[in-house]
Amino acid sequence: MPDSLERELDASVCPSAANATHGAIQPHGCLIGFDSDWRRVCLASTNLPRFFGLASTEALGCPLERVVGGGATVALERALALGSPGISLPARPASGALQRLHLSLHATGRLIILAAEPLEGTAHDLPGLGYAWGTRLAQADSTGELDARLQQALHALTGFEFCTLSQPKRAGPATEHLPGELSHSDYPPLWLVDSRAVPVELLATPGINADLSDCPLHLPAPMLHRWLADRQARAALMLDLQAARPERRYAVCWDRRPRSLAPPLRHLLLQLVQTAALRRTLLDETQQTQQRYRLLSERNSRLQRLAYTDPLTQLANRHRIERVLETELALASRTDAPLAVLLFDIDHFKPINDTHGHETGDRVLSQVARQAQSHLRDSDHLGRWGGEEFIVVIPCCELSRARELAWRMCRALAQRRIDPVGQVTASFGVATSQPGDSCRTLVRRADQAMYLAKQAGRACVRTQEAG
Ligand code: GH3
Ligand code: MG
Ligand code: MG
Repeated sequence: MPDSLERELDASVCPSAANATHGAIQPHGCLIGFDSDWRRVCLASTNLPRFFGLASTEALGCPLERVVGGGATVALERALALGSPGISLPARPASGALQRLHLSLHATGRLIILAAEPLEGTAHDLPGLGYAWGTRLAQADSTGELDARLQQALHALTGFEFCTLSQPKRAGPATEHLPGELSHSDYPPLWLVDSRAVPVELLATPGINADLSDCPLHLPAPMLHRWLADRQARAALMLDLQAARPERRYAVCWDRRPRSLAPPLRHLLLQLVQTAALRRTLLDETQQTQQRYRLLSERNSRLQRLAYTDPLTQLANRHRIERVLETELALASRTDAPLAVLLFDIDHFKPINDTHGHETGDRVLSQVARQAQSHLRDSDHLGRWGGEEFIVVIPCCELSRARELAWRMCRALAQRRIDPVGQVTASFGVATSQPGDSCRTLVRRADQAMYLAKQAGRACVRTQEAG
């Protein structure tokens, strides 16, 4: 059926709906919506004649090439196939003056929306600017630096009076807040040329309901309009910085004079915002990885401490002190320096537990450990060997010096009262390493010496020779 006949048929079925209005757009450009087969224009702004010399009522129902011309249609199809956001071309409007137009395309549902805007002021080297600013953004070392550079880029490239990064009110502190009541669909991108310019109406064939939020000609939501009016802003641009994140942030620029941004420059700004968003994701992830790494190494050290420490006395546990003994013995045999081992056991500890309770027994163990530690150097190693038995590993120490140290510790312990128990003593066995010693043989000699000390009446020191 010919298009004109179909239009007439539509009008006869529903005459009032033939040219139904469909909202409005900014007046500096014009809008044409058509079906995905490019066969029927079904949406057109009433300022169409200014751009293409054809009334919007005439355009509705026609193929696109009738409105924009065959050459432009072919160029648009080619641009779409290439993935390009649009083309520029000369157009001869009704008034006759030749002007350059930029036509951009985007799909929404089953419609393709074409926005035509005058192409002015694009003398800049846009690829060069894109490269330079893109590099600066990609090399930002922190999110603060990234925000500052993005703001600089927006200032430099738009020339707008105010350029800021902002977020909705509910999302916490920021330099500039947008109204928190705005819904997501009210958000960017917004390219407002002049808030005081009278919008132009869109006419649509019946049944058309197009989402124009991605069209560069769309008007700001009323709340955003008021927000801009409060700042006396006539021109504005607003870009989503982190569309995929819950804490959304925006680049918001405004000017108290009307300003337009040529479409190629807009594309450059969108590209820079994307670069900034990617850089931010990378910086955030690097920071999170560093945090996780810090946490992991903290936990590892804690685990290591737990694995090596006796929980009651906080000394090295049996496992740890055995490793230390192995290392020191290997070192001693390589350097021919004697390694001394002191083994001491608290005397009559069982009656302490029986009389004063297990908790008091625990306290006595802790205090004996603390006191023993106070007699030692940093290079000496004190550990809990088991129960009420302790071990001291002393590198580079002759038997006589080890015996002296053991006596000092023995006497000091006996002289000090531990409440509520009173006097607490220990018996000490001392041994030093001999050629061919293993940890087992060395500790066994110290243990035998300690047994002799117990036999000798306790609270005394015996050395390996005595055995
Ligand atoms: P000796 O002078 O011959 O060494 O006699 P002793 O009573 O000290 O030795 P014995 O081996 O008879 O008793 C050791 C006691 O130490 C028995 C055990 O219940 C107690 N003990 C071992 N480990 C702990 C501990 O961690 N806390 C407490 N409170 N008691 C412990
Ligand atoms: Mg004991
Ligand atoms: Mg014991």
